[in-house]
Amino acid sequence: MMSKEEMRFLLDEIRAEVSETRGHTGRAVLSPRVLEAFAAVPRHAFLPGALRPAAYINRPLPIGHGQTISQPYIVALMTELLETKAEDVVLEIGTGSGYQAALLARLVCQVYTLEIVAPLARRASERLRDMGLGNVEVRQGDGHEGWPEHAPFDAIIVTAAAPEVPPALIEQLKPGGRMLIPLGPRYGGQELQLLRKDTDGRVSRETVLPVVFVPLTGGAAARGALE
Ligand code: SAH
Repeated sequence: MMSKEEMRFLLDEIRAEVSETRGHTGRAVLSPRVLEAFAAVPRHAFLPGALRPAAYINRPLPIGHGQTISQPYIVALMTELLETKAEDVVLEIGTGSGYQAALLARLVCQVYTLEIVAPLARRASERLRDMGLGNVEVRQGDGHEGWPEHAPFDAIIVTAAAPEVPPALIEQLKPGGRMLIPLGPRYGGQELQLLRKDTDGRVSRETVLPVVFVPLTGGAAARGALE
């Protein structure tokens, strides 16, 4: 399903887009280890059958339950900006298809990933297991709470847009750690932000670039609505 040519073409497009957006992101190129991991993960395996022929096009695609697998360029860029090291433990919020988690699993020691939609969490978990990725744990749950049992994390990546950074996630980030999160309203006006927690626990934020993500659901508002 994945031809070398399709992957090479996609990587060329991603490299071009990374270069074009360097004014925003401060990155003109992707590091060899990220490129290598990217080339090793078959994106088609994370898509519903009918969409597999479109897997190596640089676009987000629907994965059911109103959710999407992110655009390959964004996945590659976010992976780069996390600056992971082989010994890192990473938390992802928004497992979706499991694609981003599979990519991270090739780069770090352990990935924990939370997905609020139960059937997506189940499917992603099976898929990652079938691929032999033993260092990813998927759980169904609300990412607003993070995953305290495994905290603190060297890096946190949120793949759905929130109006504000959930406080539990800031708490669960290790001093010296990095978090990527799209912030902004449900539709339009979102920006990808990079948060850094320094060794004294102080948090700084910078805006990377404008983005479009599905909303982070759940949280206190959703609990309130149920009460
Ligand atoms: N990283 C995914 C793409 C994610 S799309 C991939 O590689 O395929 C965003 C995902 O976040 C969706 O699957 C959505 O259901 C999930 N999500 C939304 N709100 C959430 C929350 N509060 N906690 C956990 N997951 C959430």
